[in-house]
Amino acid sequence: MLNVGQIEEGFVLDHIPAGKAMSIYYHLGLDKFDGCVAIIKNARSGKLVKKDILKVECDINALDLDVLAVIDHTITVNVVKDGVIVEKKTLVLPKEIKGVMKCKNPRCITSIEQELPHIFYLADSDKEIYRCKYCDEKNSEKM
Ligand SMILES: [Zn+2]
Repeated sequence: MLNVGQIEEGFVLDHIPAGKAMSIYYHLGLDKFDGCVAIIKNARSGKLVKKDILKVECDINALDLDVLAVIDHTITVNVVKDGVIVEKKTLVLPKEIKGVMKCKNPRCITSIEQELPHIFYLADSDKEIYRCKYCDEKNSEKM
């Protein structure tokens, strides 16, 4: 049996709100990733009733933590090296994020010019509101 509990180098994403692990899996591009990934759904937790855990065996510089922060910045990121947790990272909402959210405004320049990258900026860090850099449309996409 494959031992998914032990990873040599990579990440253990803990305290993911239950049900969000798959969304994170796709947003991090792990469906196209050929390394070892373990998804634990609905694990019992003292802090939350249920939580998801995601374990990824990869180069520790390979994951885009900005994307993760946008999805949920309360997730605990444990960095694993040589089989032990060497660091716990705190996620901070990025000021600007590129290519993650898509602008839904049909009059936005990104709808007309398809090759333009979708860039959103952090408009309100308390409410976690991102707005399109081109037209100021609020991001309505659920991450
Ligand atoms: Zn826009």
